Amino acid sequence: MGLFDTPELRRFRAEVRDFLAEHLDAEMVQATRAGLHLERATVARWQATLDRRGWGAPHWPAAAGGPGWDEARRYIFEEETAFADAPLGDVLGLFLAGPMLIAEGSPAQKARYLPPILSGDEFWCQGFSEPNAGSDLASLKTTARPQGGHWIVNGQKTWLSGGHMADQMFLLARTEPDAKPQAGLSMFVVDMQTPGLTVQPILTIDEGHSVNALFIDDVKIPAGQLVGERGKGWGYAKDLLARERVNNAQAARSKRDIVELDRLARTLHDAQGRPLIDDPVVHRRLASLAADFVALESAVLGVVAEQMAGHEPGPAASTLKIRGSELQQRVTETALTLLGPAGMALQPVYASGPVDEAATGWIERHLFRRVVTIYAGSNEIQKTIIAKSLLGM
Ligand SMILES: Cc1cc2nc3c(=O)[nH]c(=O)nc-3n(C[C@H](O)[C@H](O)[C@H](O)COP(=O)(O)OP(=O)(O)OC[C@H]3O[C@@H](n4cnc5c(N)ncnc54)[C@H](O)[C@@H]3O)c2cc1C
Repeated sequence: MGLFDTPELRRFRAEVRDFLAEHLDAEMVQATRAGLHLERATVARWQATLDRRGWGAPHWPAAAGGPGWDEARRYIFEEETAFADAPLGDVLGLFLAGPMLIAEGSPAQKARYLPPILSGDEFWCQGFSEPNAGSDLASLKTTARPQGGHWIVNGQKTWLSGGHMADQMFLLARTEPDAKPQAGLSMFVVDMQTPGLTVQPILTIDEGHSVNALFIDDVKIPAGQLVGERGKGWGYAKDLLARERVNNAQAARSKRDIVELDRLARTLHDAQGRPLIDDPVVHRRLASLAADFVALESAVLGVVAEQMAGHEPGPAASTLKIRGSELQQRVTETALTLLGPAGMALQPVYASGPVDEAATGWIERHLFRRVVTIYAGSNEIQKTIIAKSLLGM
């Protein structure tokens, strides 16, 4: 890829590769390959290792503790970590809470919350969606009212990814009940140990526990936990969701998966003992996936080049999210087709002991990936954004 083909960037890639070879241990690699919901301890251990090297948050500005890389280096780092099967960090802290606090947080909030995200000591969750406010997020009902130097929060949130193991939550709540829906929202940071918060597990179709319901009863939070300005929460949430969408394209991880599919097709055999890759239908399906991946990667690299020139992705984030999420679903569908009945056995996500290496984790990922076209704003909503912003409809 021409964009990255310079002596300096080749040297950088080699440096990352050497670091991964030295520091990633077999347990982390196996856990990453085996499933989607990694244990907090595994993620925290890897995050601390990256932080010691100064690589804890590749996309943060140097002033906030990032390594000061340009977009090309960030993409190379993403690609190398994906191919090495390195755990993803705490996405909610690193990609959502951190950048939001860097942009909108007070100096005290930055000093308090950014270092433990970098070191892996604190994890975050996102309290936006409610039972009756998902796509129509601005209609959310959770309220925060000021009372003697505090805010009193009441309501209910749902689908909190990682809520059961989070230390902090960024919360969207209604502070101006009489304002228009979007204008009445504010953003807060809430300590998950605050009395009045009750986290309840929601088990998902993959038999995993990664999401939760949250009940908020007269929760008292200090005034200083308001992020930015009162009533401006909707704008902060929109910026945050755009960042989440670019991240959700997950191009580097899909590239890793497609290489793995190719390996599966070469090692698995049909009833006549022929490698599956020799079946023209299989061959065509893999070729079509690879071609669509190249198109996605080109689009991501286009955005990377734009960002290198100082431009924000804007509605392009929606196109990347749609294509990236669809591709992630097609990848696991293809894996299950290749594996046949062997791919159907659900294995506990943290399975220990002997497992069928080839089949491990595909069915869990396939089932859980129903969500990638839904969360971070469903793909239907992204199409509306594209129609309005890019096509002027
Ligand atoms: C596993 C999982 C993890 C999640 N993690 C989090 C989290 O950590 N924090 C958080 O705040 N939220 C989280 N979410 C919530 C997620 O953002 C919402 O599920 C999503 O925004 C959709 O909202 P909804 O579920 O209420 O569906 P609805 O809004 O009820 O939508 C139902 C269907 O109708 C379609 N639809 C709705 N409105 C329109 C429209 N105007 N035009 C066309 N089609 C429309 C949608 O596309 C969808 O297919 C998570 C969800 C899941 C399933």
